[in-house]
Amino acid sequence: MLSRLRSAGYDAYLVGGCVRDLLIGKIPKDFDVSTRAHPEQVQAVFKNCRLIGRRFRLAHIHFGREVIEVATFRAPHHQEGESLQHEDGRILRDNVYGTEEEDAWRRDFTVNALYYDSVDFSVRDHVGAMADIESRTLRMIGEPSERYKEDPVRMLRAVRFAAKLDFSIEPATQAPIKELGGMLKDIPSSRLFDELLKLFHGAAAVKTFHLLREYDLLRQLFPLSDDYFKNNIDSSAERLVLASLANTDARISEGKSVTPAFLFAAMLWGPMLKELEGKSNKVPQYQAIQVAADQLLAKQLQYTSIPRRFSVMMREIWQLQSRFEMRSGKRPWRLLEHPRFRAAYDFLVLRANVGEVPAELATWWTDFQECEEPAQKKMLKKSDAPKRRRRKPTAAKKIIEV
Ligand code: ATP
Ligand code: MG
Repeated sequence: MLSRLRSAGYDAYLVGGCVRDLLIGKIPKDFDVSTRAHPEQVQAVFKNCRLIGRRFRLAHIHFGREVIEVATFRAPHHQEGESLQHEDGRILRDNVYGTEEEDAWRRDFTVNALYYDSVDFSVRDHVGAMADIESRTLRMIGEPSERYKEDPVRMLRAVRFAAKLDFSIEPATQAPIKELGGMLKDIPSSRLFDELLKLFHGAAAVKTFHLLREYDLLRQLFPLSDDYFKNNIDSSAERLVLASLANTDARISEGKSVTPAFLFAAMLWGPMLKELEGKSNKVPQYQAIQVAADQLLAKQLQYTSIPRRFSVMMREIWQLQSRFEMRSGKRPWRLLEHPRFRAAYDFLVLRANVGEVPAELATWWTDFQECEEPAQKKMLKKSDAPKRRRRKPTAAKKIIEV
């Protein structure tokens, strides 16, 4: 791959995340290539090549299911008309080609700007990255606040890499984040959604969550959740988020699948309880959840997009919570057959683990799934309205009261 570009007369290197990961002993997720060849020239060398992107034009070379991303060396843009820059400093288009060294300087963090030369097996470092790898430091290339203004998503990337690589963020790189965080509101909500998935599905979600809060960036992504956590210190809803993120990390490390719907359902559970307050007494529970979910999602969608298939599933996870209380007649079997039972049950277990519903309820459902029909019949409750001990109703409790 690199050698084909070289034979065609173009310098080409492995670059970015894969070189960094190899140097710190991690397995790279994918391989990126950087070359002097322009996208059209890359396309001329490889039949299996497609050009993509407008803001940032790239060549994708397909090998079966693998895709290798080939980017042309970029330069900073000095002359007008070469790139499009918004008045607040954001770069809207970035297709000015340059040299390898210029390409290194326009990358975000030093450790992401290393080039691996497959001809002499050397690592080329233009920005002092090796020293930062040694000391496990994440350092912005250039003047941090300018670089964040060019692309505010770099603030989220700082947190993501610090968490994932277990690096510390160098002080000058940290410093502007709190002040500039608000610039994320101008980023298209679909890009924020993509970035969110990278933040929380990179096997370091718990640490990421703590860092997002530390730098006051959670406010930019999930303002309603952030408010809820700030107003309700150590709430069960926050513990539920942490438990679900720990779960996500474990699943990803074991190579199991995860769904963004679950992440969003957990993250927005606190605001959901707040929306539900006062509603549950007036209308049936399922209706209250529906209305609350509508209102909440309308607000959240102003910040991050959530593709419809995931928002539908989130609603189902929430909605089914009210049905776990119904443990008589045919209802438990009907619930078991619901396509979203598994996700909703996992959510119930989390709620039980953080003390939001009795542990007995989750255990009952665990047992009910596992035993045969005769035993299941014995487990059924006589009615769904058992006498409740009078306790101060909490928001969390209201949701299970029909
Ligand atoms: P990961 O392993 O999570 O994919 P990565 O370092 O490969 O990490 P990518 O988002 O795949 O990250 O980007 C590839 C490379 O492109 C980065 O290493 C960095 O050099 C450069 N890059 C990506 N996004 C930006 C950005 N917003 N600003 C500057 N450089 C960037
Ligand atoms: Mg990558």
